[in-house]
Amino acid sequence: MIRVEALPAQEGDCLWVEWTHQGRVHRMLVDGGRGGRGGTLPAGLAARFARRPVTERVFDLVVCTHLDADHIGGLIPLFRHPPEGFAAEDVWFNGDRQLLGDVLSYAQADALSRLLRDQPWNRWFAGRQVEVPDSGELPVVPLPGLRLTLLSPTSRTLVRLGRDWTREVARVERQRLAPTPEADPDVLRGGDAGLTWDELTDAPYQRDESLPNRSSIAFLAEHEDGSRVLFAADAHAETLRAGLRRLDGTPWGRPYRVDLCKVPHHGSSRNLSPLLLAQLDCRHWLFSTNGARFGHPDRRAVARLVERCERPTLWFNYLSPSTAEFACPELAAERGFTAVHPPEDRPGIDLTVSGGRVAPTDTTAGRAP
Ligand SMILES: [Zn+2]
Repeated sequence: MIRVEALPAQEGDCLWVEWTHQGRVHRMLVDGGRGGRGGTLPAGLAARFARRPVTERVFDLVVCTHLDADHIGGLIPLFRHPPEGFAAEDVWFNGDRQLLGDVLSYAQADALSRLLRDQPWNRWFAGRQVEVPDSGELPVVPLPGLRLTLLSPTSRTLVRLGRDWTREVARVERQRLAPTPEADPDVLRGGDAGLTWDELTDAPYQRDESLPNRSSIAFLAEHEDGSRVLFAADAHAETLRAGLRRLDGTPWGRPYRVDLCKVPHHGSSRNLSPLLLAQLDCRHWLFSTNGARFGHPDRRAVARLVERCERPTLWFNYLSPSTAEFACPELAAERGFTAVHPPEDRPGIDLTVSGGRVAPTDTTAGRAP
């Protein structure tokens, strides 16, 4: 059983993950979303901590997938002013120490790098980069009851990120400080706004060129009961495909079964390529975004997914202007998909993956706080 909660994190990711092993609950946090006001924990993460007793706030692993503000922002207050009882046995983040030696630049990535100096940082990688080597086996990290196989980033990408670190960090910082635009779906959706569903389905794929996204730590998590979740971060479709092909052991790559996929880059059309979709045998897709800033998910990405997958279920952690279109029962029936949204005033979604099934976590049984 793997429980995945996509906490409300505005346009970002903040995934609280739990699983059991020998009767004990283990947990992992993947990203912190955008930081809260005045350097506080984001509200969704603070509320999640408040629901856990102080004695149950130890994480086997905390992952900062990459340095974009909608992933790193909430982790800074977490390490700067940790909630009582919080501890992490390992923290994965490719920061300045790994990429630059001791050269400092600025902004959130450096802030997190400084905060992690006293933490077990990239411990599984002996303090070095969390990366997929150019050849050989993919790195496999056995947590208790959960096996993580790293798919992204590649060594080559991190060499480039190290070279461009100061420029990329400055660009991300400008984006962080820019005011959040109102999520006006017509403006944000650019070229997709007026397209019919058929036009969206046939719209061409253009790849993501963002270097920070390409540096995302993405991995497959397999529980000892066989449940599989793909945590795709904001990784590039091409990197994920290359990783899946290596996992599969064939040069062309058979469709790889996963029970649940955290959709890469919040459902951007540049990260959900037709070829990546063809390489995944997956029915359940988790979208983490309220559509702020970039209007994610892109309409053409959702249309592409729905047309290429067998009766998919789309799980959204917000009912917002950019996700509401897919809540239309007529559209879902016509195109053969199921969509699940939380109530507008209670964002966040909590899923349990078990025995090949994905369902909302049963919080009434008293086992799932
Ligand atoms: Zn993101």
